[in-house]
Amino acid sequence: MLAQGKDVIMEHTLYKATRRKEYLEAFRTVTDEPIDIYVMQPSDERLLQNIQTNDEQRKRGIDWIKSQMREIEIPSINEGFTHVYVVNDKGIQDWSSNPVERKFIDKNTKITLFEKGLGDEEKRKIVGFGDKPFKHICECCGAVAVLTSKEAYEQGWDYPGDGAIYPSSMFGVLSPRTCGNCGITETAYWAIAVEGKTTAELSENQLQAVERIMQEPDILQVDG
Ligand SMILES: [Zn+2]
Repeated sequence: MLAQGKDVIMEHTLYKATRRKEYLEAFRTVTDEPIDIYVMQPSDERLLQNIQTNDEQRKRGIDWIKSQMREIEIPSINEGFTHVYVVNDKGIQDWSSNPVERKFIDKNTKITLFEKGLGDEEKRKIVGFGDKPFKHICECCGAVAVLTSKEAYEQGWDYPGDGAIYPSSMFGVLSPRTCGNCGITETAYWAIAVEGKTTAELSENQLQAVERIMQEPDILQVDG
């Protein structure tokens, strides 16, 4: 088909660049046509929806799927692709000129929503959900509760929002996300800001907490 000049779509879990190299070399023996690659990067919400329809994946749970996703080496045009696209809940984005590494919040880069160049009006919008309930996800024990910020505070949650223990803690900014039963020392915040750990040294729970923080406040929204 390739040799006949037809467009060909291949679906494959080629996590590693070395595996993709074999395929690219094989393609190049029959055609010089451009090769684009699309990388699926569903949000946690979408993953949770998807695994509901697959018994095996549901049994393994989202943590397992996310740890698998972390194994993906995001492709680069240097490997020989014409375009690299990332597909997520926001649609299809051209990542051809993006750096290969995934960016995490850490002590040095401290990526926050504020550094994304938001105006005052937008900043105010992300401070909280007001008196509307939203998802509170404990990064230590995995508890999930749909609560207003005030209710969460009363139940001992350490979480951003209008009723937060620390009014300065904002969505999208690294700080603890814990329920009333869990302490601060297991949090990603503690590991990075206090213990000075690098992202490579974080536990699976802590990595997931960082990824969620970067998707706040959208990821905490309750449907309807
Ligand atoms: Zn907890």
